Amino acid sequence: MNVIAVMDRKPMSVTERCCRSCGGSRLDVFLKLGETPLADRLLTEGNAGVPEPSFPLDVAFCQDCSLVQITETVDPRILFADAYPYYSSFSPALLKHSSDNVHRLIARRRLGPASFVVELASNDGYLLKNYVERGIRVLGIDPADGPALAAKKIGVPTICAFFTPELAGKLRSQGYRADIIHANNVLAPVADTNGFVAAIARLLKDDGVAVIETPYIEPLIEHCEFDTIYHEHLCYYSVTALDMLFRRHGLYLNELEPLAIHGGSLRLYVEPQQRTGATVKAQLAHELARGINTLQYYRDFSNKITRLKHALSELLCELKSEGASIAAYGAAAKGATLINTVGIGPDLIDFVVDRNVHKHGKFMPGQRLPIYGTDMLLKRQPDYLLVLAWNFVDEIVQQQE
Ligand SMILES: [Zn+2]
Repeated sequence: MNVIAVMDRKPMSVTERCCRSCGGSRLDVFLKLGETPLADRLLTEGNAGVPEPSFPLDVAFCQDCSLVQITETVDPRILFADAYPYYSSFSPALLKHSSDNVHRLIARRRLGPASFVVELASNDGYLLKNYVERGIRVLGIDPADGPALAAKKIGVPTICAFFTPELAGKLRSQGYRADIIHANNVLAPVADTNGFVAAIARLLKDDGVAVIETPYIEPLIEHCEFDTIYHEHLCYYSVTALDMLFRRHGLYLNELEPLAIHGGSLRLYVEPQQRTGATVKAQLAHELARGINTLQYYRDFSNKITRLKHALSELLCELKSEGASIAAYGAAAKGATLINTVGIGPDLIDFVVDRNVHKHGKFMPGQRLPIYGTDMLLKRQPDYLLVLAWNFVDEIVQQQE
């Protein structure tokens, strides 16, 4: 699909007036980040001169199921088309995180050659390859054809499609039922939240488990990680909201583990049988005590962001006025949100570096900062480096030593 042609005709977006999870109409917008371009849509030399479509970035709280969500839905065919530049295998930290997870699951669930494992948004096969190496049957499902092709090349069977109840039903009718379904960082971006969870329920064995990783709302609010809000991330989950979502589809959130990855995530263990474990009970009680299930909890977030944006902007202007050169690290979506909502342009930042070769020679959306390989840091020796990919800061510091 030619993405640019689609975008040139008319970008499609819908403003949701009902909750993405429960369908309720009591949505309160508590944060407006303005109109921003698509955070993952890097520009090329060819389209850098063409105006980009931008969409409102408003965040709302549902009074009925407490799900925090953005109100705008950009057509997934635009968001996840073939130009999607993210390849999981470029992050050593993510690879280790994934293989540790897989090896623990293989041991715990006693998986073997008769087992069947599915990953949703399987990207370039970075996770499933760990099962393939152990002789376990796998299937990846991912709508982005570049990464899906890369997965097939390393021996990870992959269907290039969106995961829907229809696809799950088709696989089930062909005799496929999953012992494990992985879904990492896909529950928040998926446009049809209920359809996605219903499809998991359909494909999972009666004694199977869905192992789902998703960013957690509490660190987002507590640490003011507003740059993780962009059009691709439609939902920002609390355990309260997750619990209600799964129950609607006959699934139960039975255990969870907090993860440090991506600024604070949760790994959820979701099964067709209810046996709510201590970790889930404790987190639900914690959310009740903190008021995370009330609008009040989110009231001051907008003011905190405004203060943070001013502080960052002032710091960069001050350094620049002293004659310093500044570069940035990490051409990821969160970096695009930060530079576009704070207004960090070429007058403040000279260039952005990223390890992903697919991004080199392109430009950040909105502010159009050029993106190079990390070798540019050695060549140009900037005085300061603004780490946009702060979730990988330890890895970046180590690499750049
Ligand atoms: Zn709701």
